[in-house]
Amino acid sequence: MSAMNKKTVTEDAQEVFRAVALIELGARMQVLESELALSRERLIRLYREVRGVSPPKGMLPFSADWYMPWLPNIHASLFFNTYLFMKKEASCSHLDALTKGYRLYLEHCVRNDAEPVLDLTRAWTLVRFFEAEMLQLTPCCRCTGKFVAHKHDLQRGVVCGACQPPSRAGRTRKVAARAAAQAFTSVADENIGATPDDVPAQAA
Ligand SMILES: [Zn+2]
Repeated sequence: MSAMNKKTVTEDAQEVFRAVALIELGARMQVLESELALSRERLIRLYREVRGVSPPKGMLPFSADWYMPWLPNIHASLFFNTYLFMKKEASCSHLDALTKGYRLYLEHCVRNDAEPVLDLTRAWTLVRFFEAEMLQLTPCCRCTGKFVAHKHDLQRGVVCGACQPPSRAGRTRKVAARAAAQAFTSVADENIGATPDDVPAQAA
């Protein structure tokens, strides 16, 4: 806790802005507590101010299997590719890449008429699973997009969910799949040779 006291007023204000951005995007308390150097008490107060309600209690989603069915998988892949892009190409910190990558993910959903499937907490947990080396990105042999897979899954000759929606999906699910697939492949295309300047400007 002593490190917290050493923060300058500016640093403290920046930390508060980061917290507000995360809360606005739907972050849960566990996400805030592990990402920000602000006391739990202040985070709860911020949460109440921004959302008008107390933060929900309860455990975070835990299983990496959640990202495996085809629709969550396409969305997870879409988000994680934007996250990596912000981190590597736009040189964002982990936290900035999370918020900016997540905003970009939402924009891609809107642009392609896809209902967002991944909330911010799921997005954050996804990054944690990658850091824990439980997940990997696997190249699709049809669209060359990279999709989320378990760490030791096959790496060659595999097809992503966007290229191969389940044949028994109903009409609505097929429409959702097509929209998500469009968003995913547009990101896969953009990330090839894109520069950080091509990324739409984001509020800090
Ligand atoms: Zn594919």
